[in-house]
Amino acid sequence: MQTRRIILVLLIVCLILPIAGATDIVINPVSSPNGAILLVVDGLGSSYFYPEFVPYDLDGNELMKAEADNIILIADGGVRVLDVTAPQPKTTPGHSILATGYSHANPSIVGFDDATIFDSAHKHDYLCIAVMQKGDFEALRAKQDIILFDSSNSLKTPTADLEINAQVPADVVELMEEWQNGLPCYLEGKEGIERYGAYNRWGIDTSDAIVRHMCNHYPNQKFLLTVNVGAVDVAGHYRGPEQYVKLIEELDGDICNLYCTCFENDLALIITADHGMSFRKTENGRYVGGHASDTYVDAVESRRIPLIISGPNVQIGIINETHGQEDIAPTLLSILDVTEVLLHSDGGTIPVKKYANLRVIADSPTEITLQREGVIIYSITDEDVTFIGLAPGEYTISTGRHTMSVNLDSDQVIEIEASSYDGTVLAAAIISVIMIGGGLTIREIIKE
Ligand SMILES: [Zn+2]
Repeated sequence: MQTRRIILVLLIVCLILPIAGATDIVINPVSSPNGAILLVVDGLGSSYFYPEFVPYDLDGNELMKAEADNIILIADGGVRVLDVTAPQPKTTPGHSILATGYSHANPSIVGFDDATIFDSAHKHDYLCIAVMQKGDFEALRAKQDIILFDSSNSLKTPTADLEINAQVPADVVELMEEWQNGLPCYLEGKEGIERYGAYNRWGIDTSDAIVRHMCNHYPNQKFLLTVNVGAVDVAGHYRGPEQYVKLIEELDGDICNLYCTCFENDLALIITADHGMSFRKTENGRYVGGHASDTYVDAVESRRIPLIISGPNVQIGIINETHGQEDIAPTLLSILDVTEVLLHSDGGTIPVKKYANLRVIADSPTEITLQREGVIIYSITDEDVTFIGLAPGEYTISTGRHTMSVNLDSDQVIEIEASSYDGTVLAAAIISVIMIGGGLTIREIIKE
């Protein structure tokens, strides 16, 4: 039996790569994306374009929907999560939640160390770039290496401001300066809803140009590009449901180049929103939109947001489960195979990937053995090890006197306190689990 186990261990192709001080053990080869684009469409409610939903105004009247054929096509080539709710349907909290994976997040939390997806990405040598028309604030900007943002909060006189917080290649800075200067050309001579569309288009085109530049000139530099396009939200507030829907359709047309660039370069594209949008008819028969104030905050149209993900390692299909906006940050990290813990997150990893990674962190070097169905897959003496490319299913982790079973359907991090106490050797007093995945079940068995 022992011989059979040893042979099985030897048969498994394992590569050991040191990353960020941890040991990565590739159990099965994986196709991690070369980077990711997090596209936040400000105020885009999934009620207005998901085929399964029908939007209503606050009086219960049915509203028109957008024909977002391209976005749905992107979803068909990747994964679409059906029911995702924004716990605080407001712009700043929404972006704070997207950054931290914490449902009660605010800008102060974003400013904490190891709180955001950007901190985790930086640990793995990612460049963090952002193009944000709305949703940025000081703490969020500070987490970017470079960010183009609009400090005006006005579509009449928008600005493009550049903030550089770290060493960024000079040609990337130059490119972003070119696009910064190009905003007036996009808006020239355009008024009303046409101006709204041009403003969004500038955001998407700028992002596409940055992605193409990074892929062409820095193919080995991983990056996380965060994008916010702001005009769908503004249209919702001031132009009524018809123009809101029209602007979603226009964005749907503008998004194709960015998607193709991502697809061709094995990048992940994550399309979501900070919150949705609701409408009410005023006494004069005009529609007014909102999402954050007491009138709108509880409406499903204000809270239900899209989550569409494409990338080389994501599954194809629809996930018909209930999730929260706080699940998006840990899910994004799992797509990047960045198995880091977001310190304040209460979100879970949505099982969007074709495989799962399991990271085991001990407080001192200890023998860590991974088994499945009684067969040893790998055994190593280490204090921080990540098993990569595991098929979803039930696994057993053994350390010292302790064994725990892990139902792995998405990336998980397990923390083990293995050091001795009372002078005894390897007491393995406490085994604790950091929940970064919603589907995790743990059963601890103490050996006699
Ligand atoms: Zn917003």
